[in-house]
Amino acid sequence: MTTLIIATRNRHKADEIRAILGSDLHFLTLNDFPDAPKVVEDAPTFSGNATKKAVELARSLASGISNFKFQISNPAHVLADDSGLEVDALDGAPGVHSARFAANEKTSGNSSDSANNEKLLRLLKDVPPEKRTARFRCVIALTPVLPTKSGASSPVCCSDESELQTGLFEGTCEGKIIFAPRGDHGFGYDPLFVPDGFDQTFSELGDETKNQISHRSKALAKLRERFKRNKAG
Ligand code: IMP
Repeated sequence: MTTLIIATRNRHKADEIRAILGSDLHFLTLNDFPDAPKVVEDAPTFSGNATKKAVELARSLASGISNFKFQISNPAHVLADDSGLEVDALDGAPGVHSARFAANEKTSGNSSDSANNEKLLRLLKDVPPEKRTARFRCVIALTPVLPTKSGASSPVCCSDESELQTGLFEGTCEGKIIFAPRGDHGFGYDPLFVPDGFDQTFSELGDETKNQISHRSKALAKLRERFKRNKAG
């Protein structure tokens, strides 16, 4: 059975990924590796941050953090999700800064979901309904945990083998931002986001519907296809 290490401590994200990918994988998360190094998400793109999170954890696992044992018979991959909300009236903000949108620029930590949502509503207060278009974007990076450190193996740059073998899978979900939060499920900006084709927010629709139409489910569907093809080949 393949082990999939989800590079997040966000319980909601990990639960969504588990629910969408199903039960024939063995899942671990960052909570199983308390000494995993904290990755600074400073890339300007979702794919850059997702790759950084996946590759750095895969390298740490290969070097034996938390007594992680690499077994050829039991392949392991790191899965990292970087995702966020792009609002057209804000020129794509908060984008890669979605988790720390309301945080003081001088602090590096994330801000609470309610603070982020309040800031978003404040910035959009004079924007009429037809101009409140937005999308969630998700990029998933999948990196194999390789048995030995392979060094710089690219002939054209200084990438190492983990980075060269990283696959990227992207999904988006179009919708609009309403004027006040609605619903109790989900996380982040879910109470403010109504996906196209629906009248309810992600928070009102609940996990089952969200997991059929979300940015994350679309990216994970592509990843599942890759796993299937690899098995078949
Ligand atoms: P990340 O952990 O750096 O990828 O931060 C992602 C941030 O984007 C989260 O903290 C949320 O604020 C937002 N976000 C990403 N995906 C979702 C989602 O499915 N629903 C609501 N907010 C999301």
